[in-house]
Amino acid sequence: MSDNLADLIEVSRTYGSDPDWVLAGGGNTSMKEDGFLYVKASGFELATIGAEGFVKMSLDKLDAVWNKNYPADEKLREAGVLEDMMNARTEGQGARPSVEALLHSLIKGRLVVHTHPALINGLTCGVGGEAALKEIFGDAALWVPLTHPGYILANEIKTRLDAAAASGKPYPEMIFLQNHGLFVAGETPFDIERLQKKAAAGITGRLVKTAVGDSGTRSIAQSVSGSFPEEAERAWGRKLTVLGAVNTDVLAFAESAESFEKIRLPLNPDQIVYCGPGPLRIDSLSGLSAAVSAYKSEWKREPQGVLLKGVGAFAVGDNDKKAESALALLLDSVRIAVYSESFGGALPMTDELIIFIRDWEVEHYRAKVSK
Ligand SMILES: [Zn+2]
Repeated sequence: MSDNLADLIEVSRTYGSDPDWVLAGGGNTSMKEDGFLYVKASGFELATIGAEGFVKMSLDKLDAVWNKNYPADEKLREAGVLEDMMNARTEGQGARPSVEALLHSLIKGRLVVHTHPALINGLTCGVGGEAALKEIFGDAALWVPLTHPGYILANEIKTRLDAAAASGKPYPEMIFLQNHGLFVAGETPFDIERLQKKAAAGITGRLVKTAVGDSGTRSIAQSVSGSFPEEAERAWGRKLTVLGAVNTDVLAFAESAESFEKIRLPLNPDQIVYCGPGPLRIDSLSGLSAAVSAYKSEWKREPQGVLLKGVGAFAVGDNDKKAESALALLLDSVRIAVYSESFGGALPMTDELIIFIRDWEVEHYRAKVSK
């Protein structure tokens, strides 16, 4: 690729390798130049991305999406939009653009960085998140309510950005998506850094309680976790990678059915994609098999995360990478729930959206191809 993607690669790797901003295959970035959008392709991770990880797309063709009428049926509509997205790629581009490419094309600014940080999601997942956002940042920040991903979300953001532009107020520098994450845009990596810091500082200033970070979290060695791996093999019916971690926040949520209620349902789409539609909680290992069966009949999917009272958090996966991602997202949900306490408490995604994301082909694709 002859185009100069240095700034794009720089911001991608900077935030992609910082777990405070990006976990697993989450987050995406883009750059606009000379009528083209270079956007992260599905299946690449920001931490290690190079020029080959971006798809070059025509901004005119992406804009044309807004002049088309798509079927009302959700599946047909998303398939139609996906087809137009694939056709908006320039000659010779084989990768599949990020599911959020349409959002990137809408947002003004040369560089666009989208992340799902726990701190910021403490606000976006908070019952009082929207009101707090207005108080902290005023018109500099735009709030986008929880909605279906894909075209519907892009359309919601477009409507809100158009309304903000028509109001004569300054263009919002930060976009906060309920139960999802943050978009910032700017001309240079420095602009991005300034805005990310502004977003984080504004929220940190309102915290009444800080979540335990990586430094306060330790992994649970097999000797400490007792027979969890053997019990897991029985409960899931096959051999799996089992990873465990513990910190004081995890123990607090694992303590009782009542304390667990705050994180029983997923808070954001990534959690569903990488860790399933919410974790399980058990009082003792002897209850694991029954709890896994009950979960499967409720959610039509296997659980991937378990909180064990008095011991910690466990995640399972068919390989090390999947178990690592599941554990990262399980610990992330714990962190988000703690931060949300500063914003009225965590508000989970709706059952309807949880099931929608669980079944969504595009997200399924993302989890599958993520290396
Ligand atoms: Zn996202």
